Amino acid sequence: MSTIRGGNPLATLRQITSTRPEPVVGERCEMCAQAIAEEHQHVVNLESRALMCTCRGCYLLFTAEHAELRYRAVPDRYLSFPDFAFGENEWDELQIPVGLAFLFQNSVQDRTVAFYPGPAGATESELSLEAWTRIVSANPQLGVLKPDVEALLLRGPDRENHPGFSAHVVPIDTCYELVGRLRALWRGFDGGQEALAAIEEFFATVEERSRPAPRPSGDGVA
Ligand SMILES: [Zn+2]
Ligand SMILES: [Zn+2]
Repeated sequence: MSTIRGGNPLATLRQITSTRPEPVVGERCEMCAQAIAEEHQHVVNLESRALMCTCRGCYLLFTAEHAELRYRAVPDRYLSFPDFAFGENEWDELQIPVGLAFLFQNSVQDRTVAFYPGPAGATESELSLEAWTRIVSANPQLGVLKPDVEALLLRGPDRENHPGFSAHVVPIDTCYELVGRLRALWRGFDGGQEALAAIEEFFATVEERSRPAPRPSGDGVA
């Protein structure tokens, strides 16, 4: 994962930890250099969009939602939308050539971005503000989506297993992990057996971890 170094609040932290001996193996927090487990949390750099691997302590520095911060902690929540209002027309409008896409709000550029996996990694698809606004107004529950750190995962219909569309909120680091995995596995036009199996496995995990999204209460929802 790419690293963007710098940022004053972290200078002190780095000084404190720089006197410690460096761990020989394993990953390290990209903010304070402390050794971290293979399973760890991430922070998004809002300018570069880079994900940074963090220890728990550094992660917690950036969980405040409305603070004017350069980094944001990626939350660990999965939500499902059992009554998602979405159909063929909306799907066509997004112009996604594969069976799934991730949509997220880029708060710095003030726009919604759609991307999908493929042999070259993540490919961005133009998403008109109009199209996004229509989807959100048909599904007010989508107001729970947190900019920059969560993505709306859309799955299109599939010949056998999935006749309809599905939507989930997933942590953005999960999306990048899937994209990276698929890039390595992708063969031919549709990804091939291994990529399709990885996608199935991914959706099974998402289903298992998701709980239904909260209903809009009537106020405070865009
Ligand atoms: Zn750290
Ligand atoms: Zn990491």
